[in-house]
Amino acid sequence: MDSARYTIKKISPLQAIVFTGTISLLIIIAGTAGFFVTQHKLLEQIEKKQACYIDLVDFRGKLIEPGFSRNLKPSPGVTRNSEELLLMYKKLLVQMQHADMEPVAFVQPAKGNWPAQLAGKDLERFKLELEKNIEKAKIASKDAAVKLFVINEFFLFFILAVLLTLSITAGWLLHNNYRQTLIPLAQLVGQLKQLNKNIPESIHDTAEEMKKELTETEHSSDITQITKSIMSFCGDIEAKNKKLDEIYIRDEKTNLYNYRHFKEHLIIDVERAKRLNDKVSLAMIDIDNFKHYNDTNGHLSGDKALKVLANIISSQCRAYDVPARFGGDEFALLFPKTGTTTTRDIAERLRKIISDEPFLHEEGQPVGDFTVSIGIATFPDDAHDWATLISNADRALYKAKAEGRNKVVVFSSMEEVQNIPG
Ligand code: GH3
Ligand code: MG
Repeated sequence: MDSARYTIKKISPLQAIVFTGTISLLIIIAGTAGFFVTQHKLLEQIEKKQACYIDLVDFRGKLIEPGFSRNLKPSPGVTRNSEELLLMYKKLLVQMQHADMEPVAFVQPAKGNWPAQLAGKDLERFKLELEKNIEKAKIASKDAAVKLFVINEFFLFFILAVLLTLSITAGWLLHNNYRQTLIPLAQLVGQLKQLNKNIPESIHDTAEEMKKELTETEHSSDITQITKSIMSFCGDIEAKNKKLDEIYIRDEKTNLYNYRHFKEHLIIDVERAKRLNDKVSLAMIDIDNFKHYNDTNGHLSGDKALKVLANIISSQCRAYDVPARFGGDEFALLFPKTGTTTTRDIAERLRKIISDEPFLHEEGQPVGDFTVSIGIATFPDDAHDWATLISNADRALYKAKAEGRNKVVVFSSMEEVQNIPG
């Protein structure tokens, strides 16, 4: 099943802002359009109602004109005025209906008997009806004005609410953006600075530390991606560094430590022995008649023999001993916290194992065996610093060669050393 299909994609802050902004804009546009349509309708209503009110008041003025009132009484020659009045009033009632008002109309004289009906009691009733309609128009136009006011207020409130929602959303997004992007980014920068300082020694620790710090809070997918890339980058560097470290300290041909690493160790161990009043021993190992071996069997066979020998030396070392290729056919074996006797025992065992090992073509060697000579010196018994420790172990080695090879010689037991006065 394709799991990618079910992954919920995180929305970036920018996408969220664009989305919210668009929705808000649409709401504002729709709301404003609705408001203007409603406002326009209400204004029309107000206008119509107010016009009705004014016309009704006008009509009342005409009605109470002395001459006009008089003319309402049935007398010859006044019919035209009464008809005119009737027509005007009817128009006013229709106008009221157009302005969405239901007029009070309990006096509805027929055209023919209009003047006669409006005399006396009827006239009073007509006036009352007129007053009621005037009042109705007045209240209706007031109501419409109040409605307009409420709509205006509501629209203002609506705009404010949208703006407030927009501000809160923008604030929230900015806060989230700050929390999910800027804070982790700042952490990342801090950790990268740290990383830069510590390269190459603790790149692994720094990468792990960075991972811990950055996963404490939830952050945006971009930051997670960046962090992952840096993690994998750190992992790569770490692996390459380990490889480089190995190359830096190993001898390519024998895979023993090289002279550089051996010397660093020797200096540190001699200093430590000085401080702690302890001992460090050194065995210098040299292949006997190796030139002859090369000359007889070729350099490639010589290289193979070097490797076999290096493996034997390594296998005979303790975990904290330092086996190294000193150069050419010479090897150095450093024994921290070890005195002469133990070193001599180990060296003697090593010499014997090498002598017993059936090296290829060893029968061609001058004595028919592939052997080594070993010289031993111990700090502080035989030397006052690391350099004299090497040279005295070397002197013991030359002594072993001089005494016929395939031998272990301890510097302190050398005759010439014992003969030195004091
Ligand atoms: P001795 O018993 O006195 O040590 O005699 P030797 O022949 O071993 O001493 P010498 O210093 O004359 O020769 C050392 C030889 O080691 C010379 C050189 O060809 C050989 N050698 C040095 N490095 C290498 C190497 O990496 N590979 C091979 N095959 N031979 C090497
Ligand atoms: Mg040699």
